[in-house]
Amino acid sequence: MLPDSDLARAGNPAEITARLGAAFATGRTRPLDWRKAQLRALRDLLTEHQQVFAAALNADLGKSATEAHTTEIGFTVNEIDHTLRHLDRWTRPHKVRTPLSLAPARARTVREPLGTVLIISPWNYPLQLALAPLVGALAAGNCAVIKPSELAPATSAALAHWLPRVLDPHAVAVVEGGVPETTALLDQRFDHVFYTGNGTVGRIVMAAAARHLTPVTLELGGKSPAVVEPGTDLATAARRIAWGKFMNAGQTCVAPDYVLAVGEAATAIEPHLATAVREMYGADPATSGDYGRIVNDRHFDRLTGLLTDGRTVVGGDHDRTARYIAPTVLADVDPGSAVMREEIFGPILPVVHVPDLDSAIAFINGRDKPLALYAFTASRHSKRRLLAETSSGALAFGIPNAHLTVQGLPFGGVGESGQGRYHGSYSMDTFSHTKAVLDKPLLPDTLRLAYPPFTRRKERLLRRMA
Ligand code: NAD
Repeated sequence: MLPDSDLARAGNPAEITARLGAAFATGRTRPLDWRKAQLRALRDLLTEHQQVFAAALNADLGKSATEAHTTEIGFTVNEIDHTLRHLDRWTRPHKVRTPLSLAPARARTVREPLGTVLIISPWNYPLQLALAPLVGALAAGNCAVIKPSELAPATSAALAHWLPRVLDPHAVAVVEGGVPETTALLDQRFDHVFYTGNGTVGRIVMAAAARHLTPVTLELGGKSPAVVEPGTDLATAARRIAWGKFMNAGQTCVAPDYVLAVGEAATAIEPHLATAVREMYGADPATSGDYGRIVNDRHFDRLTGLLTDGRTVVGGDHDRTARYIAPTVLADVDPGSAVMREEIFGPILPVVHVPDLDSAIAFINGRDKPLALYAFTASRHSKRRLLAETSSGALAFGIPNAHLTVQGLPFGGVGESGQGRYHGSYSMDTFSHTKAVLDKPLLPDTLRLAYPPFTRRKERLLRRMA
């Protein structure tokens, strides 16, 4: 552990990027031993101080200890373990075949770290969304500046306190703050900017990064539909949709935003959704220790304004002083209503009725490409059609949100839901440059054939070898 006097010298953005850049230039972050030591230190921090982070998440979002573990702390630990297990393999050079015309020669790809990366994270999973990208950045051998969300102040403070104490403070810095601090950071030249949040700010981030020709990853949101077809097990579908939706009080980027119910599934699923909510959170979810709260008054007011956009099947209660909004299902929702125009990002689940799968596909394709598309159907034909005829960051049948926990899968959006991807080996791709390396001995000089002056014979041979 470093003395507090050393930790205090965080400095302004220009000083921080200069300091980290100088540290990167020494090569200290490149050895695999350094990278693994950072990952193990982060893992130890999360396991030994679980309660500290769980308490911060509870203070920010009323997260239950179970959800704090499964979706944030444990999730990040799993990401670290997966990375540690595979890092040697992921960082090994890859041999590539060389063309006959170049023989003898050897070619390979070698991953190299980018330098200093900036990670800007949001408030809804304030620990996971700051640390999972950091795992990739460190594993790839980079220095990193983390800018946690000011809207989750307890988690932000915990990260700012602990990360420089357990990680290499020459290579990792945490900058707390809101728009002015993030703007000041974005004025600096980074080697990659990794932003998670909304598309409006995503555009600001991309424009700022463009000034330095810095590549960006944008992990954004949007409206992720859950298509439900008749003939599927509606009780289980309703339970799973309710589970994915009302986790973290609906403030999950991949949560099913709305149900797109085909034919008679629209009315048939209503009672099942109501039952699922009662089974999970009781008759009065306000008293459930497993149900979260809305992050702030602004979002509370925005969300309560949407509660009248349909017939209430279950829920609808709210309490501003506690920033509580009951898990709410709305039926008979007009596709043009406010609740269907913007990402909901709260515990309100509209059910929109469409007559058939063709209309469901047209509905999806008529809007921005979603971060995730979920479908509950017993028909293999429907699955094939949804796969072939729609585009989304991810497509999952039978379960929402869980594709994030499949470590071999990339996580990221497409179009308005984002660009770039991460998790596991995909983080290595994001936070590394894959360098092409070619090594051809000077002797024998087999290239004579390629040098001018060209003769007919040379040309014939060259064409044959190409
Ligand atoms: P937020 O308000 O916490 O903002 C995210 C980050 O951007 C913060 O660090 C904040 O300080 C910074 N920021 C805000 N305004 C800025 C500005 N004008 N200039 C520079 N930086 C600025 O979080 P949010 O955007 O409200 O998060 C919710 C959104 O994020 C939703 O759309 C959700 O779907 C999406 N999201 C996506 C993912 C994903 O992995 N794809 C995960 C979580 C959330």
